[in-house]
Amino acid sequence: MRLGILGGGQLARMLALAGYPLGFRFLFLDPAPDACAFPLGEALHGAYDDLDLLAQLANDTDKLTFEFENISAAALQSLSGIALDPPLEALSIKKDRNSEKALFQELAIPTTPFRTVDGPEDLAAAVQAFGRPVVLKTRSQGYDGKGQRIVRDANDDARALRELGEHRLIAERFIPFERELSVIAVRGSDGAQAFYPISENTHDNGILVRAESRPLDPMTERACALTGRLLERLQYVGTLALEFFEYEGELLANEFAPRVHNSGHWTIEGAETSQFENHLRAVAGMPLGSTAALGAVAMRNCIGTIPDPAPLLRLEGVHAHFYGKAPRPGRKLGHITVRARSEDELAARLAKLDAQLPSFRFSC
Ligand code: AMP
Repeated sequence: MRLGILGGGQLARMLALAGYPLGFRFLFLDPAPDACAFPLGEALHGAYDDLDLLAQLANDTDKLTFEFENISAAALQSLSGIALDPPLEALSIKKDRNSEKALFQELAIPTTPFRTVDGPEDLAAAVQAFGRPVVLKTRSQGYDGKGQRIVRDANDDARALRELGEHRLIAERFIPFERELSVIAVRGSDGAQAFYPISENTHDNGILVRAESRPLDPMTERACALTGRLLERLQYVGTLALEFFEYEGELLANEFAPRVHNSGHWTIEGAETSQFENHLRAVAGMPLGSTAALGAVAMRNCIGTIPDPAPLLRLEGVHAHFYGKAPRPGRKLGHITVRARSEDELAARLAKLDAQLPSFRFSC
């Protein structure tokens, strides 16, 4: 199968790496001329809403998918008869935090209390309703903490509105959560659902820095049940991530990603079938592979700088992935997976990683 992927970043790159053993070929579309997936297939270089390029991408491939939700659902919709998965509806809903929240409410998936904000009066009403601080977010185009401000006092209000652009925002109650969790799930074209062990995640400035697989987590059943509702309602095909805050014994959905997700990168070495392979299997109409974990697994992101690989590759159970991207502050450049036979062994290996390479604690 020749698959067209909107987006040529690291997620597209890892999809391609997972797809070659199954005989997939790839055509990527990305506005960046040096997108890091490009060496792994053929490439179209241009805007995501360029209708000629989109038509070419669709005509020259058997199926389309995407690695990034900040693409144009409207442009895709205007092309008739394209074969696309995950479904366009998932993408359209995800592109607006307000419609995403409305979907959570429709499905009785508990979510962070929120209000739409289109100016200072709406923000004042949200502050009145939720108390400070509130989290102000752009309704679209936000990722990795971009398009988001925590507003703590009246001075922050004006600055945040100025920086985020006053309109088409949402304000959320600030949740002093105990943990952040995510479910990586996959639904096949035959409706089969599968769930990876949930991940416990740590963010810094809105960017994921680490994820730990939690196969025995007490929140598993609840988290997977809520995620299953989303898969079913969207008649979803492919890999999807649903992120939660755990707060006072309940799970509050923060957001979903209609694609493979950073908190599931550990599945490459840590699960029978990776999230990337299962995404490809799903969109190609193949049977899904087992999502069972292979031991205890954790992942560290490499953000802003690329570590020297030699010392970390000497550590047992460590697998490094560098994406071939130019270093830039706040940019995801790679990730490191650590696998072990038991939680104790994993803790010891992680301690060695952090102790031997102390800069990783903050940069990875
Ligand atoms: P998001 O872009 O919505 O995924 O937010 C990125 C990160 O910011 C989350 O993973 C949390 O760590 C933090 N965050 C977002 N919304 C809230 C909130 N309402 N309360 C507390 N922390 C939040």
